Amino acid sequence: MQNNELIICYGDQPQSMTRRLLEQIKPEQGLDHNAKIGIKPNLVVPSPAEDGATTHPEIVEAIVLYFQEHGCRNLVILEGSWVGSKTSHAFKRCGYQALAKKLNVPLIDLQEDDSVPLAAECMTVQVCSQVTGLDVLINVPVLKGHCQTGMTCALKNMKGCITNREKRRFHSMGLHMPIAALSTLIRQDLIIIDGLCGDLTFEEGGHPVAMNRIIAAKDPVLADSYAAQLLGFDLSDVPYIQMAEKMGTGSADVSQALVTELNHDQETPVCQPKPLRDRPYVRQIEEDQACSACYGSLIHALERLYERGADTHLRQTQFLIGQGFKGKPGASYQNRQHGKQQALGIGACTAGCKQFIPGCPPKAKEILAFLSKLD
Ligand code: SF4
Repeated sequence: MQNNELIICYGDQPQSMTRRLLEQIKPEQGLDHNAKIGIKPNLVVPSPAEDGATTHPEIVEAIVLYFQEHGCRNLVILEGSWVGSKTSHAFKRCGYQALAKKLNVPLIDLQEDDSVPLAAECMTVQVCSQVTGLDVLINVPVLKGHCQTGMTCALKNMKGCITNREKRRFHSMGLHMPIAALSTLIRQDLIIIDGLCGDLTFEEGGHPVAMNRIIAAKDPVLADSYAAQLLGFDLSDVPYIQMAEKMGTGSADVSQALVTELNHDQETPVCQPKPLRDRPYVRQIEEDQACSACYGSLIHALERLYERGADTHLRQTQFLIGQGFKGKPGASYQNRQHGKQQALGIGACTAGCKQFIPGCPPKAKEILAFLSKLD
């Protein structure tokens, strides 16, 4: 796999999707069987992955099994939860304690680890010793929103590799610059992004949105730049991405990326978790057999739109989405401000609508760009 590649697998079966990605990437090639391989999920809080905060253990299980089958025996799973939670609780509640026992892989609680000072260009960071002792680091972040930085994915997940004291210091420094600095200190050899049902806005979960995808990358800056588009953010909304680029960690230029989709998410019609019914825009959506990846993009786009203050016209726009609209002309509705309007189609399936946003699935950023022209 090259640094400019992003490989995506859609679906809701994390174990088989992860295996499929690894079989495509072949990360075992050229790897010493005695290499110490660390797998770093996101277990920020002790809550199950379905709540949108933590990495699905099935993804980590698939990674461990894959490397074990290829002769690698020196694997560890390591994490340090956020300051308010104990990692040991998260290991248990998120299914990692059982997983470690089943696969005979050690769990390392980085909250209990020593640290070593590593000097970046602009600051020195206390990084957990166990992390600095790895030969290979596989980062398995969750693609989700974050109340301070907008989003979190590959770059910010490395914050679990520093001491609690450093985590507090990172917050006092505004997070962005230290996260970028940290990216220059910890090399990520492979990134497998859990994009199954990350939270809409909060790191600790509670509003999961089905996005039904797992994304593989080597460059954490490129991975996060792509992730920002999926969640409807501009790069300027998430400053640490371009800061990391400037510090030499990778490239934020998604236009130069080689994006490979191994499949499409057409077998898993939408099933939205209940909390999203609270969102005002949900009543603007008419869904008929929509893929979760497509519906999730629309949800993220509308969340960003409402955050930015959508005008009345857009708050009344009706959206059609799903395979059930294939070959149909779309419906009209009454907009209080503009009178009779045609509903706006989301995705290639709604090509019969007078106005539709192409893509299968479209990204939240693309939906927002289209809507901003209507605003
Ligand atoms: S455009 Fe249609 S097939 Fe494609 S992701 Fe959306 S709903 Fe699914």
